[in-house]
Amino acid sequence: MSPVLQEKLPPGRYTAQLVVAPESAEDVPRILTAAYETGVPITPRGAGTGNYGQATPFAGGAVLDLRRCNRVLEVGDGFVRVEPGAKLTDVDAAVRAAGQDLWMFPSTKGSTAGGFVGGGSAGTGTIEHGTTYDGYVRSLTVAPCDGSSSTFTADGVEALPYVHAYGVTGILTSLTLATEPARDWRAVYLAADDYTTGTTILRGLRAFGPRLASMDEVPLVAHLPSSYVDRDRISVRAILPADTVTEACDLAYDLGGTVSAVVEGVEATDLLSGMSYNHPVYFLQQSGYRCFHLESAGDPLWQAPDAIRSLLPHVLFHLELGHRGVQAMIVADYVDEEQVLAGIEGLEAMGVAVHSPHQWYVDRQLPVIRAVAPRVDPRGLLNPGKLA
Ligand SMILES: Cc1cc2nc3c(=O)[nH]c(=O)nc-3n(C[C@H](O)[C@H](O)[C@H](O)COP(=O)(O)OP(=O)(O)OC[C@H]3O[C@@H](n4cnc5c(N)ncnc54)[C@H](O)[C@@H]3O)c2cc1C
Repeated sequence: MSPVLQEKLPPGRYTAQLVVAPESAEDVPRILTAAYETGVPITPRGAGTGNYGQATPFAGGAVLDLRRCNRVLEVGDGFVRVEPGAKLTDVDAAVRAAGQDLWMFPSTKGSTAGGFVGGGSAGTGTIEHGTTYDGYVRSLTVAPCDGSSSTFTADGVEALPYVHAYGVTGILTSLTLATEPARDWRAVYLAADDYTTGTTILRGLRAFGPRLASMDEVPLVAHLPSSYVDRDRISVRAILPADTVTEACDLAYDLGGTVSAVVEGVEATDLLSGMSYNHPVYFLQQSGYRCFHLESAGDPLWQAPDAIRSLLPHVLFHLELGHRGVQAMIVADYVDEEQVLAGIEGLEAMGVAVHSPHQWYVDRQLPVIRAVAPRVDPRGLLNPGKLA
């Protein structure tokens, strides 16, 4: 999704010599020992939807394709234990069959549990439960690349050095993720005529306990894959508990918005999830529009959208209600990398926090990840080039 990375990482520039696709996660420790003994780099890969080059095999060697390690091992009260290649759609289905909801999943719900914990961070459920660092990961089994053919278990906060680490601190061979009693959800489509009305409605929705609440400006709305959106107006969409929908719709009307649709069923709520986070930008790019985006957060998104608009050409906002405040994909016409970096600097100067999806280095919890990596990967074979 990054035009900067499309220039730096064109298809074919970095290739693996081998794809290793185990059928069981139990085979992973033995594979890592073979890599350790022969000095072959290993780049783990789930569904390959990571959007900033995290699973690119910079040093060649082997790609460890974990998609066949896809079993849901156990659904318990408040947790689900899975192999790393289990698709979150399958995990969610298993959990719902047991009367529970997964705490969180990304807009790429077809991605794998190992890839989401290894390279993602947030999604449907984030408003209530934060990111993948905030209790979602109950426990991990990790295979080091140290010749030991072993695994170890990391529970609770001990698991954090292996979260969003792109595999440089070991390969996740099983994951225990948090669940909660299932609720009855509705997909709610609202519309507004201007940014202030849209954001006021979005903020108001927090009171109703949404699982997701997103907003898009009109040029982004045009490419959303749902017949329920009003394409000429700002779209506000939310996954809400069924018993709050009437009150939430009343609020939207009171604030000057309208209600386009309220839809029942998991397909409907999944469709809304699939139009959140990076997806509206992705749909716009798929239409041929050359743009870049910056993942951002902070009050200026509510309070000073015009100041943000003045920084970059043709700014468009996709907003998400975050765990605390607001998050956004700030979209703008792409010129070159220098323009992207200047944009980040300008946004940070006005108090907007930016996470750049235009570079591939591990950029969260760096001190702890730097401390753990040499112990689990003494030869530096795991996903080389991602830890600066
Ligand atoms: C359109 C679009 C929308 C997106 N929306 C979201 C979103 O809502 N929220 C979000 O967080 N992300 C989002 N992403 C990013 C990405 O899709 C997710 O993070 C996804 O969950 C990654 O899973 P995957 O199976 O595709 O992993 P991959 O892309 O295959 O891998 C991701 C990273 O994890 C590492 N990895 C994979 N498996 C393992 C393992 N078993 N052990 C250790 N490391 C491993 C890989 O080496 C890589 O560094 C989006 C991306 C796109 C393109």
